[in-house]
Amino acid sequence: MIPFNKIHVTGKEIFYMVHAMADGKISGAGQFSKKCANMLNNLYGYEHTLLTTSCSDALEMCAMLIDIGPGDEIIMPSYTFVSTANAFIRQGAKVIFADSTPQHPNIDPDSIANAITAKTKAVVVIHYGGIEPNMDKIIKLCKQHNIVLIEDAAQSIHSQKKNQWLGKKSDLAVMSFHDSKNITCGEGGLLIINNQVYKEKAEILWEKGTNRYNFTLGKVHKYEWLDIGSSFLMADLNAAYLYAQLENADTITANRKKLWHNYAQQIQSNEFMTSCHDTITRENDHNAHIFYLDIHSALFKEKLLQVFKKENIYALSHYLALHNSPYYLSKNDKMSLPNAERFEHSILRLPLYMDLTISDQERVINCVNNCIRTMH
Ligand SMILES: *Cc1c(COP(=O)(O)O)cnc(C)c1O
Repeated sequence: MIPFNKIHVTGKEIFYMVHAMADGKISGAGQFSKKCANMLNNLYGYEHTLLTTSCSDALEMCAMLIDIGPGDEIIMPSYTFVSTANAFIRQGAKVIFADSTPQHPNIDPDSIANAITAKTKAVVVIHYGGIEPNMDKIIKLCKQHNIVLIEDAAQSIHSQKKNQWLGKKSDLAVMSFHDSKNITCGEGGLLIINNQVYKEKAEILWEKGTNRYNFTLGKVHKYEWLDIGSSFLMADLNAAYLYAQLENADTITANRKKLWHNYAQQIQSNEFMTSCHDTITRENDHNAHIFYLDIHSALFKEKLLQVFKKENIYALSHYLALHNSPYYLSKNDKMSLPNAERFEHSILRLPLYMDLTISDQERVINCVNNCIRTMH
């Protein structure tokens, strides 16, 4: 059996977790949380970061931080994970879905431009597979209309564009350490504060609405209830696990990239499908989070899925466009976003994980290439 994903264990996780246990501090804001935050800031040049219980929770923090609520609109891609939308809807905002570009699942700046109204408070973009959308255009739009920009960079750790680490072009960005992501601690997330206007409030919301953050730094003598917050801190036990993974971020990413490029070299676009390799430029030195085929032929997809099933290979489609979800349609009129709707059916993600062996990968590649041959 070749699974779609398999967690990679560096071997150091248990060592650091035992270390945290021996020191007697396994709740949030402990030594490993600090070590992780320092490492992330040093490695990627983030100004201020807070580790969270999940990326979904970091998104909820964003919604609270920008003070979005009833009467406000927020634009985001329909082709994304539910958490991107949930976070803002639960604050009472109205989510306006934008379409993907025709070639790539990322949000189309023109679709954002068409959706902007006087009520637009924020735009959230995602970086599908660790690839940025056209940020230059999006940043310009947001500046022009005085709109907050948030990056759901859940999939983007250790991804670069033009030699710049992703997650720094917005007011607030979030990342995920869920075990489906490249670097993991089971459940975990990160809030990256790029606009320091949000720094103090973020620290307060993170610590249940109190100034305990400053209390632990010795800046105040008592901590008080100052705002509506929650418990968004990652437990130090998880941070200890994460620390071992972050230490190995280079190796893990390098190995995934090797596998990704092997797929890219051996599977060529043809009349039935486009390799994701052909939808991105060399400027994207990405983290190899996803390798997918964009399949145009329903017959080819059916055949390929049959072969994979027979060979016990797990390949997965991805998001169901949120504008067509039962929840959204129970509250809103049906709308049409043709590109997002197309990707629902066309994307098939191939197995990709740090410990995927070359021989297993060859089996996957042979299945695809044999399937192409039988179509001719
Ligand atoms: C994984 C993912 C999330 C959710 O991350 P969690 O850490 O599981 O909450 C949100 N948005 C996107 C785009 C994701 O890929």
